Amino acid sequence: MKKEDIERMRLLYSEMDGAYDALAGKYGFSCDGCEDNCCTQRFYHHAVAEYFYLLEGIKKADPELREQIFRKSMVVTESYWHEVQAGEVFKLMCPANFDGLCSVYEWRPMICRLHGLPHHFTMPDGTVRKSGGCPRTNDDSNGLLDRTPFYKELAEIEKSMREDMNYRQRFKKTTAQMFVDMQMELEMEEG
Ligand code: SF4
Repeated sequence: MKKEDIERMRLLYSEMDGAYDALAGKYGFSCDGCEDNCCTQRFYHHAVAEYFYLLEGIKKADPELREQIFRKSMVVTESYWHEVQAGEVFKLMCPANFDGLCSVYEWRPMICRLHGLPHHFTMPDGTVRKSGGCPRTNDDSNGLLDRTPFYKELAEIEKSMREDMNYRQRFKKTTAQMFVDMQMELEMEEG
């Protein structure tokens, strides 16, 4: 990943975190003590920019931690196949979560940063979509987080990176699937 793309992603995430924290403060919202850990939710990530930013974090991680994340990712992704046979969706913890905490916090994807607060965003055609927060913020009395500028900036970084890489495939992966890909990518790099 080019240094300028890393910097753009770092800045984007920092702006997201700032806006999120400001609104969370108005709600008095905190994840502390929540038993419904949202790291078990089946979030899909759609940007290769986020994949490569997370990969930067994985490269910097302690090798033992990285191996543990990769091992857990194999178990989680294998469970997806068992789900198909069972005909139900299992509640599976993200492989980067250890004892309730994110081990790649600085590098975590967008939805991990924005989940929980009521929000809205404006589609390119001008349609506004609204959505509530998690059960801890089940009203919107203190306002909504406007995700529009974040989605727009991520889309621009994504477009630029895809053009640079000539990457044309659709991207839709869970964190576990991304970590499995990263393991293969790093093994190929190491030969
Ligand atoms: S990357 Fe971190 S914050 Fe996101 S689901 Fe995994 S453990 Fe949770």
